[in-house]
Amino acid sequence: MIRSSYDVVVVGGGHNGLVAAAYLARAGRSVLVLERLAQVGGAAVSQQVFEGIDVRLSAYSYLVSLLPDRIVDDLGLEVRLSDRAVASYTATLRDGRPAGLLVERDEGPATATSFRQLTGSDAEFAGWQRFYARLATLAEDLAPTLTERLLSPAQLAARLREPQLWHDLRERPLADVVADHLNDDVVRGVALTDGLIGTFADVHAADGLAGRCFLYHLVGNGTGRWRVPVGGMGAVSGAMAAAARRGGAELVTRATVTALEPRADGVTVHWTDDDGRSAAVDAGHVVGGVAPTVLAGLTGADPGPRPSGSQLKVNMVLARLPRLRSGADPAVALAGTVHVDEAAGQLDAAYAQAAAGQLPDVIPFEVYCHSLTDPSILGPVERAGGAHTLTLFGLHTPAELFRGDPVGVRREAVRRVVAQLDAHLEEPLLDCLARDASGDPCLQAASPLDVEASLAMPGGHIFHGDLAWPVAADDEQVGTWGVATDHPRIVAASSGGTVRGGAVSGLGGFAAAQHLLGG
Ligand SMILES: Cc1cc2nc3c(=O)[nH]c(=O)nc-3n(C[C@H](O)[C@H](O)[C@H](O)COP(=O)(O)OP(=O)(O)OC[C@H]3O[C@@H](n4cnc5c(N)ncnc54)[C@H](O)[C@@H]3O)c2cc1C
Repeated sequence: MIRSSYDVVVVGGGHNGLVAAAYLARAGRSVLVLERLAQVGGAAVSQQVFEGIDVRLSAYSYLVSLLPDRIVDDLGLEVRLSDRAVASYTATLRDGRPAGLLVERDEGPATATSFRQLTGSDAEFAGWQRFYARLATLAEDLAPTLTERLLSPAQLAARLREPQLWHDLRERPLADVVADHLNDDVVRGVALTDGLIGTFADVHAADGLAGRCFLYHLVGNGTGRWRVPVGGMGAVSGAMAAAARRGGAELVTRATVTALEPRADGVTVHWTDDDGRSAAVDAGHVVGGVAPTVLAGLTGADPGPRPSGSQLKVNMVLARLPRLRSGADPAVALAGTVHVDEAAGQLDAAYAQAAAGQLPDVIPFEVYCHSLTDPSILGPVERAGGAHTLTLFGLHTPAELFRGDPVGVRREAVRRVVAQLDAHLEEPLLDCLARDASGDPCLQAASPLDVEASLAMPGGHIFHGDLAWPVAADDEQVGTWGVATDHPRIVAASSGGTVRGGAVSGLGGFAAAQHLLGG
């Protein structure tokens, strides 16, 4: 039974809204979460995507790095994150012959040999190790600050053992910082992709866009390791929802918030259910678990420019792993992130085409097989039959490219990435795909427009908008949690609404709760 007033109403039951709800409820606040979809979790969910195929896919986000152990411990989250044995495998064609660059999770002799075979010397691996050792030091120093009040740039720099690298990432084009350490076009591309995940950026620009995205991909928990959530992403948001419920929060799904009326002493929250019935509830504070443009729209404010996502996401189920033309074991290569057509020059060419309004001829992308690390997401029949999942994440495919002909452009984008992947396979991908109950191949593609339609992420931007540097933007922000909005009674918690909330981290929800609890 929903009451007429709560201490806090959380708008949006994405993972950040759930984390905020859990902290606040455990601290004794009465909390109501209103989520428009039939399930909570937002972009951190597992779904059975293909009819007749018992596989729980992480339909949107799929790997975890930025969720701090502190949040897991504080909330008693029953979350298991598994390391992948392989960090990445880059499929290449050298002199027309299929080859690959293997980077193990713990870089050992196989990684060194792979670099030597690709580049002809040991210099590139030495540069790689120097770069990533510097980044590891930066990550170790930065990570603890993410769960503290915001520092000024000078305060933060004083805590860093790699202040020059921090300065370079902020002030110089990412391509130049990478080029300081790496020479090979393929190897540079492997590094640069971390600056382009979900971010449409020119790596040669000094606007900090790619640098910020790069940093977020390297700092998680002080190691930057991307791990596989056992049970899929739904297990992560499910654990957060359970923690919120344990604390006493009420979670209501199929509840779309339609307007927020802030006053000096609270906020009236208007919402409707799936049958169009309207209701209102009073809140001492509102926590915005939705994208900042959505939150602004709910208060009647100008939402500002709409963000634009830039990714192509393809979910697949394989009847069997495809063999690689390079001869590499697919169970090894596909366990990590497989980079395809992501050499530095290819990233530049794709960016230039997309910026000119064209779908890139060659779409840079990466694929990875969740079920090699975590078979628990496969049903017993699928597991026994050798089925696997395959996730593809394409870069430089901004939302604008799809607007004129959403279905046709998406189909063409899929045709291109499948052909590009096929160039590295002994057998066509299509032959390896499982078939659903209707006999159709198990392949589901989503452009940014599809993500926008299903998750209300404006422009399909996976971070709700461009990421921010994890530091106070001005004097006013120093010492705050970086969650303020135009209304003191409305606090942001979401990926894009908070200074450090990007990705599946819970950091936005954590910061919103700390702000309200005076932490
Ligand atoms: C395809 C894709 C792949 C990604 N891959 C990764 C990855 O591997 N690792 C990673 O760390 N991050 C990844 N991300 C990014 C990450 O998933 C998101 O940044 C993060 O999940 C955002 O969480 P959130 O709780 O802030 O917001 P959201 O997940 O967007 O949740 C907001 C919630 O608010 C609800 N809502 C919206 N409007 C209303 C309303 N009016 N009333 C009520 N409810 C409303 C929505 O339905 C949604 O449930 C990916 C994202 C996408 C889309």
